Parts: sequence; C-alpha cells; structure tokens
Amino acid sequence: MTRKPKLGQNFLVDDSACVAIADAFGDASARTVIEIGPGHGAITALLAARCRRLIAIEIDPTLAAELRFRFRAAPQVEIHQSDILEVDLATLLAPGETAYIVGNLPYYITAPILLRLFSAGSRALLARAVLMVQREVADRLAASPGCRDYGLLSATAQMNARVETLFTLPPAAFSPPPEVFSTVLRLEFAPRFAELGVDPVGFDAFLRACFAQKRKTLANNLRAADHSAEALRAAWPTEIPRLARAESLALEPLAALYRALPIRAL
Ligand code: SAM
Repeated sequence: MTRKPKLGQNFLVDDSACVAIADAFGDASARTVIEIGPGHGAITALLAARCRRLIAIEIDPTLAAELRFRFRAAPQVEIHQSDILEVDLATLLAPGETAYIVGNLPYYITAPILLRLFSAGSRALLARAVLMVQREVADRLAASPGCRDYGLLSATAQMNARVETLFTLPPAAFSPPPEVFSTVLRLEFAPRFAELGVDPVGFDAFLRACFAQKRKTLANNLRAADHSAEALRAAWPTEIPRLARAESLALEPLAALYRALPIRAL
C-alpha cells in the first residue's frame, strides 16, 4: 500500500468499522453520496452498493486512477481527482437535490473541510454526514456550552446540524496507524437560522466575532468588532451576564443579542 503522509493517508483497515460507517446512513438507496478522500475505496465499495450515485473526490492522482479502474464496471460511481476544498458541491448535484456526505477526513485539513461544509454555499445541499475526525475535534463539535471543549467550531456545527458521536477507533484500526484516536460522528443537517430569527450570513460573522479571542469577554470581543458600548448596553439581553464569555452561552441568548443589535456589516 503506497502512502503520501502529507495527504493524511491513514487508511481504514478495520472492516467492521467500514460497515458501521456505511450503516450509519440508514437507507441511502435514493441518495447521492459524496465521499471526501476515498483512498483505496474501503468505504466507497460498501456505499456504492447501497446508494443511487456515489461521487468520490480524491486529491491523489495515483489513488484516483486506482479507483477508476476498481469501479470501472460500476456506472453509479464517479471518481473526481480534485481538492475537496476547491470543489463547488452545487455543481455535482441536480437542482434542489440534497446529498449525504461521508469521509474519513485527512487530519491536516479537518477544520477547513468542516467549515466549508457548514458554509452558506454547502449547508443547504447536505442532508446527513458521517465523518471520521480526530477524537479531540469530535469532542469540540459535540461539546455543550460551558464545557472546556466548547467554542466557535461547536457553535457553528450546532447552528447547522444535530451532532451525534457514534464510536471511537484506536490507531490500530488504520494503516499506517496515526498517533491519535479517531471518532465517527453523524451530523443531521438542520440549520437553525429561521428558528432563531437570524440571517445566516450576518449571524455566521457575528459568531466569529463573539468567539474571536477565547480570553476576552463577549462584550470585549464585540467591542473589538466595532460594536459601540452604547449599542451593546442597549441591546444586552437580561439573560446574559455582563462579563460572560461566548464559550459559556447557548445559541439562543447569542441570537437574542444579535437580533437586538442595530443591523450592521461586521
Ligand atoms: N477513505 C479512505 C479510508 O478510510 O481508508 C482514506 C482516508 S485517508 C484518512 C484520507 C484520504 O483523503 C486520502 O486518500 C487522501 O489522499 C485524501 N485527501 C487528502 N487531502 C485531500 C483533499 N484536499 N481533497 C480530497 N482528498 C484528499
């Protein structure tokens, strides 16, 4: 098995884990599944037999060629040799279609991939995701407000999806073994912008400002983002303590503060 370490190539060799990942989607027979980084195709082969269309995006030209050969008799499988961070998911899908997305993510770009999936251009195109990430990243995605791991990644994920931790695998489940444990998450995309009465693009930017510096209070982070002290005082909801940090707050009070602030570009 050849390997390019810089591309995060730790291949999953635990067959029952591959099956558990495919099973985590439930019935995918009517769905398009997009796979991020199929590698040698351990998960691809299982899902290809269970879905309507499988689009696998692999950056490594050698692996992409190997996969094209392996799936040459499977017309429902499309192999794209591309960088997932450069792919516009909308161009892969029919108008109005929502897809499932799967990936044992390359660890060196986990955060950029996640932020891209939660971005305005992608989140409306996705229904469900089953993703393997480093255990510590999974802990951040699933953390509750006030917990040590809660931050911008948690808030962004939970604004867009219900996050569920499925199972954790040791390094020995991969070849070569990584130095970390890995956790599989299921995300049910269900953006909360309408429910919380906030506009998606403005609230995305507001969250980035709220969590800009971990050591600062929410008020100081917002002052640094050019909200005046007067505007903050006038808008401040009673349920938010004056010295609160964004890390301690649920999405509801943050949305209440955002709604009460004058509309402005951050
Ligand atoms: N899915 C396979 C498995 O579970 O065995 C491989 C997972 S391996 C952790 C990550 C895969 O992502 C590798 O095949 C790697 O070449 C690919 N990859 C790395 N960077 C990528 C990128 N920017 N876009 C698409 N694929 C990428």
